[in-house]
Amino acid sequence: MAEELKKADLLEGAEKNPENLLVVKNLKKYFPIKSSFFKMTVGNVKAVDGVSFTIKRGTTMGLVGESGCGKSTIGRTILRLQGKTEGEVYFNGKDLFALSKEELRKERPNIQIIFQDPYSSLSPRLPVGEIIGEAVREHGIVPPEEFDDYITRVMEACGLPEYAKGRYPHEFSGGQRQRICIARALALNPDFILCDEPVSALDVSIQAQIINLLRNLQKEFGLTYLFISHDLSVVEHISDTVGVMYLGNMVEFAETEALFKKPLHPYTEALFSAIPVPDPDFKMNRIILEGSIPSPANPPKGCKFHTRCRKCMEICKYAEPAFKEVEEGHFVACHLYNTEEENRIAERLCEEAKKNEALNKEAKAKK
Ligand code: SF4
Repeated sequence: MAEELKKADLLEGAEKNPENLLVVKNLKKYFPIKSSFFKMTVGNVKAVDGVSFTIKRGTTMGLVGESGCGKSTIGRTILRLQGKTEGEVYFNGKDLFALSKEELRKERPNIQIIFQDPYSSLSPRLPVGEIIGEAVREHGIVPPEEFDDYITRVMEACGLPEYAKGRYPHEFSGGQRQRICIARALALNPDFILCDEPVSALDVSIQAQIINLLRNLQKEFGLTYLFISHDLSVVEHISDTVGVMYLGNMVEFAETEALFKKPLHPYTEALFSAIPVPDPDFKMNRIILEGSIPSPANPPKGCKFHTRCRKCMEICKYAEPAFKEVEEGHFVACHLYNTEEENRIAERLCEEAKKNEALNKEAKAKK
């Protein structure tokens, strides 16, 4: 249905622009639901359902949304830690899913990840120097005679003392362990780091230290981040651009300042209304979302957010809104921003869907 409302490919040729380090086009990741008998596929969990965006070199894109909206699945699919269902991912102009195993192995050091849990993502049996240096050796990042100095320098850049090299992860606090994870990623001299909720498991005071460390490293080494988080204040602090996800789709994307000043999508408005303001006299005007997030295995028709949207119109229940640019650099998927022509199409689609529904009901009643 949305096809008729869709404009030409918004990111046409974006992968050829050298400013763009990462270009994701119409990425889909479905997980099949198998029946208990014969293991037949009886449906799909649409974890990511057609997401497109770009990240410019040396910048940070934040990705926000409720738990289960598909943020982490996007990250893992981009990194090719799991296969895709459809779509393209270009890194440095190369189609990542078209790379052979060997080509991907060579590209791996350039694309790193920092996980949410600094406790389980570090091997408890290896000393810190080995954890950081293992992949450095494997990929031959520096000659063997420079290895030791190199690891010391990387640790220093991440605020870790040299004596930590011989110690084991359990001897460190949560914040220090996350520094070890960052050092492990940084040691491979990457262009891009996927930060998957990197501070969610840490105390607030430690969160600030890790965020500042990430920002300083970005300035020093020209790193590009995709920063996944459900903490909007943290995302506002670190990101240049922000994408908002709902039930496998990106519903809004803009520069951080523009998005936080004037969110356009009703879901973004509701999310942002929950950000605490450190002023006892400030009256919060919180928008409470009714109901729970629907199942991605059986998402609502039309706009997936319509079951919880306080601005829902009749067309929203049947016609899926297109993701389009409504202000320069500000993209949104919502019928509130339709042109007259788009409204006419949506109304027609809505009437057709209603007629079909009525016919189906009639046919069922006759049976
Ligand atoms: Fe709400 Fe309709 Fe916009 Fe969806 S398309 S967010 S239901 S107003």
